[in-house]
Amino acid sequence: MSPQERKTTVVYPYFQIDEALLKLSEAAEQRVIPVLWEIERTQRYNQQKMLAAFNRAGVSESHFAASTGYGYGDRGRDVLDQVYAYAFGAEDALVRWNFVSGTHTLTVALFGLLRPGDKMLCVTGTPYDTIQGVIGIEGREEPGSLKDFGILYEQLDLLPDGTPDYKGMEQIITPEYKMIYIQRSRGYTLRPSLTVAEIEKIAEIAKCKAPDCIVMVDNCYGEFIERDEPVSHGADIMAGSLIKNPGGGIAPTGGYIAGKKELVELCSYRLTTPGTGRELGCTLGQNRELFLGAFHAPHVAGEALKTAVYGAALFSALGYSVTPSPEEKRGDIIQVVELQNPEALIAFCRGIQKGAPVDSFVVPEPSPMPGYDSDVIMAAGAFTLGSSIELSADAPLREPYAVWMQGGVNYHSGQLGILLAAQEMLNAGLLHL
Ligand SMILES: *Cc1c(COP(=O)(O)O)cnc(C)c1O
Repeated sequence: MSPQERKTTVVYPYFQIDEALLKLSEAAEQRVIPVLWEIERTQRYNQQKMLAAFNRAGVSESHFAASTGYGYGDRGRDVLDQVYAYAFGAEDALVRWNFVSGTHTLTVALFGLLRPGDKMLCVTGTPYDTIQGVIGIEGREEPGSLKDFGILYEQLDLLPDGTPDYKGMEQIITPEYKMIYIQRSRGYTLRPSLTVAEIEKIAEIAKCKAPDCIVMVDNCYGEFIERDEPVSHGADIMAGSLIKNPGGGIAPTGGYIAGKKELVELCSYRLTTPGTGRELGCTLGQNRELFLGAFHAPHVAGEALKTAVYGAALFSALGYSVTPSPEEKRGDIIQVVELQNPEALIAFCRGIQKGAPVDSFVVPEPSPMPGYDSDVIMAAGAFTLGSSIELSADAPLREPYAVWMQGGVNYHSGQLGILLAAQEMLNAGLLHL
């Protein structure tokens, strides 16, 4: 083997990757090795934290047993709550497959905590698309929204550079606000995600100006990215989806709410009924998968993060503008690449699809989507439908032709998916190496 051969990453011959692209990929990965190493250190720490959570909760094979009907005394369900509480550094957690989505989980928390006449203030600009309808933001009023129930909403925008407006918060927050609401992830925007330190700073301001307020975090896409979660740094409660980071790519559905004990309790009355709360809810044989997913989640979230960092490094080496940059501190697993034209966007998504273990032969096409004024293209071939901890990419076909990609349950396969995206662009004559 020549020194040159030894240096170039070997790709399994089934996948045909251009030699020049491979060399570029090798250099891009070399550049981010310190970043990847730092992610591995966080992965290792968080994995140890998860093992400790399993040990402390005394997880046993008997907890995998299924329950039916009302699910009274389902020990596995209660122990799973304890595992997540320990792993998140929270007083308490409510983890259920019965949450149908992240939006549902956040909705249960909002309706569980807010009462008619209460005022909520979102300090991170316009919330995630699906939450707008839940709140009943102007123009997005849905029947049964918080607004319908007399809960008032106000919003403080982010600064023009997408960072939190701390000065604005100092001025606007008063004890009349019952809830200060924070969205950690960038979602499908170009703003940066929030770090736990930034969330802590917001919580400090909130508690200083409105000591009795509830600081709530939409923690979607943020779990296990740092060593601590927002609830051990000033936030009172947070919620997220199990088919993103905290389900480890194994949980088939579900969500979690974690934070202060009395607040989690209130949310449980909204999930089932006042009075019964968390005491009910059969698990129908889901416990084993939920425990297994929880156990793998810290590692899997790190693998998705490594995939995003590699993607940022490769596409910035190819001359594209990427957000965040490879070295930037991250609070979520999302990577944006501005591909500048629709052909590049379509080719990118087709390549990502080829790198999927399921439905790799499918050719994604742009198509209209409710709620979007342009066509949208999506690439995903996942074991769990809609899972975005598995490698996936979505993009509306409009300026700046940016693609939002996330996931990758293991770095080896996630990296190959990104290489295939670049190769697809090369095949279409859209890259010049
Ligand atoms: C995904 C997501 C949601 C909603 O979760 P769904 O499972 O899609 O309903 C809410 N907020 C943010 C920031 C998200 O990323």
